[in-house]
Amino acid sequence: MTEFNHYIDGTAVPSVRRMLVRNPANGAIVGHAPIADAATLDSAVAAATRAFESWSRTSDAERSAAVARIADAIEAHAEELAQLLTAEQGKPLNGLGSRFELQGAVAWTRNTASLSLPPELLQDDDSRRIELHRRPIGVVGSITPWNWPLMIAAWHFAPAIRTGNTVVVKPSPLTPLSTLRMIEIAGAVLPPGVLNVVSDDGELGAAMSAHPGIAKIVFTGSSATGRKVMQSAGATLKRLTLELGGNDAGIVLPDADPAAIAEGLFWGAFINSGQTCAALKRLYVHDSIYDAVCDALAAYAAGVPLGDGADEGSRLGPLQNEAQFAKVKRFVEAAQAAGGRILTGGAPVAAKGYFYPVTLVADAREGMALVDEEQFGTALPIIRYHDVEDAIARANASENGLGGSVWSADPVRAQAVAARLQCGTAWVNKHGAIQPGIPFGGVKASGIGTSFGRQGLEEFTTIQVVHG
Ligand code: NAD
Repeated sequence: MTEFNHYIDGTAVPSVRRMLVRNPANGAIVGHAPIADAATLDSAVAAATRAFESWSRTSDAERSAAVARIADAIEAHAEELAQLLTAEQGKPLNGLGSRFELQGAVAWTRNTASLSLPPELLQDDDSRRIELHRRPIGVVGSITPWNWPLMIAAWHFAPAIRTGNTVVVKPSPLTPLSTLRMIEIAGAVLPPGVLNVVSDDGELGAAMSAHPGIAKIVFTGSSATGRKVMQSAGATLKRLTLELGGNDAGIVLPDADPAAIAEGLFWGAFINSGQTCAALKRLYVHDSIYDAVCDALAAYAAGVPLGDGADEGSRLGPLQNEAQFAKVKRFVEAAQAAGGRILTGGAPVAAKGYFYPVTLVADAREGMALVDEEQFGTALPIIRYHDVEDAIARANASENGLGGSVWSADPVRAQAVAARLQCGTAWVNKHGAIQPGIPFGGVKASGIGTSFGRQGLEEFTTIQVVHG
């Protein structure tokens, strides 16, 4: 049995209290995660505070090289981490699964190494010279979710370290092991204390949000928890980046070709078994092609293998945890009771793990939880509309605003509709595509702040103006 440790001040730190982490495909024990108490968190923050003294004064080139070393170290252990990720998270090794996630973690880290925030000259004349400098903030607390744990941890720590901050990461209690191991690997190529990780059984995120030694929280998770983070961060006036939940709408215009868009729609909705912040979660289809789109999606779904993620042939895995499994089941049952028509799926797979098949629910409408709330799983509501203006209004009638998409044979027309969606990213004929260097973030209840690229890097700094 594998016992995992916290990583603090360059050292693996065991814990007396531990918890079991199980494989969602079969219930097998993957390992034991340590449970940090308040004193352990304090020691991680203290180590990061000490390391900040010198790390914040290193040169830009030195920090760039360090972040590039992290990318190399993760890449060198990518297969080990992918196997561990599949075991605890459930996603397939192949397709858009664990190996893909590791490639993402490496690509984002490497891209972050290449970015920089040089000083800006604001005024330079006979009377004065005024420069704007970007300074590190201090100790950054990173709180991550269970859906893309490694990639999201990299999204947090790479820009923080690149800009001269030090970091304490806290993974989700549902998927702590791969993050504990990745941070141990990454931390080993950095000075002690620059990158630390502690894991918990549910209480530590709140303690981090309130911790006086942490200057900024970068949080990715649900909107409900994001609100709590913001509230408890208020007392210490922490800087915040919040990447929160989504209920992304896609609008299929009447001129779209159902066969041509089926694959893009499918993976837009079902990547990572639908457990993706910016997955397509509500599909609005024009009445004139409604049945054809439903048929094309169902036909595509029939060819996608669902199974244990460790099986090289699987392209979709189980849902990650019991609560998520129960939620998807509940939402589908309620939608069906309210008149939703099941095109495929509709009931759990009779197997040991949390397997819920791809479920397409036609004749869905607002008022169903499956439409109004974030389902975060393998069920997609397909909603009929007659008038594009009406579809835009319904797509925007959500507290969330992460992503959105428009599908059409006419990209110019589609872009005009996309521009009217209230969301941080609007896609044409695709959904959920993100890449290093291109800013990403939510509007409304989907978040505060931006990740990736120069704008994402700036989030980890404060401005100092120097009058010469
Ligand atoms: P969650 O909010 O339940 O948990 C996220 C993290 O917060 C975990 O580490 C958890 O332990 C911690 N936490 C719990 N209570 C806390 C508290 N009071 N204070 C501080 N931290 C606390 O989210 P989840 O279920 O792990 O993740 C799924 C959600 O994340 C979905 O809503 C999804 O859309 C969202 N998400 C958003 C993005 C994005 O980039 N916008 C990316 C991935 C996931």
